[in-house]
Amino acid sequence: MAHSNGTLYIVSAPSGAGKTSLVKALIDAQPNIRVSVSHTTRAIRPGEVDGVNYHFVERGTFLNMVGHGDFLEHAEVFGNLYGTSLSTLEQTLKSGFDLILEIDWQGGEQVRRRIPGTRSIFILPPSQQALRQRLTNRGQDSDDIIEARMREAVSEMRHHVEYDYLVINDDFAVALEDLKAIFRANRLQHAQQAERHRQLLQALL
Ligand code: 5GP
Repeated sequence: MAHSNGTLYIVSAPSGAGKTSLVKALIDAQPNIRVSVSHTTRAIRPGEVDGVNYHFVERGTFLNMVGHGDFLEHAEVFGNLYGTSLSTLEQTLKSGFDLILEIDWQGGEQVRRRIPGTRSIFILPPSQQALRQRLTNRGQDSDDIIEARMREAVSEMRHHVEYDYLVINDDFAVALEDLKAIFRANRLQHAQQAERHRQLLQALL
């Protein structure tokens, strides 16, 4: 897929690592980065908005979209289907925006294969204890559910080796600076800069 302007990023993390808050803070601070809104069959949670957090759809609708080839990638995560639709993706990248896909490792694997040049970032919590604390603070869930979430988190974290960048979310502000640095450094890569500053290069040489 041609995307001479924006870069596609995969951001993965176990739930409880603070991925969503970090990505939100990043895009609030950087006008040239967008985040893709996925489709999912999971139930909407209190505080979530359809079309903002996700496009919430029935399983049948999701499977129809799969059949029509509407997804760049899709995966089943803990019993629910999730997918990145192709329609807005190409347009966003062509408009020069960097685009973030907040997806799991399975989706990451598919996107890396389909779109060479994709950059990928894995966000880790600072410790098992901090992760457990964050999963516990989320709601009034039983110990069993929290232990199940911990196991899911560990199985997601095993895939950190497949990613280009690792960010540790211990201090939120530091993790946010790390994320900004990744995007900034990528935008300074020679191929992108040479295209952006073609006139300057002509004038200089
Ligand atoms: P949650 O239901 O807690 O919002 O997300 C559960 C998991 O699904 C997270 O690991 C999240 O990154 C992943 N996820 C969200 N959207 C997508 C998507 O479009 N594709 C894939 N493969 N995973 C997704």
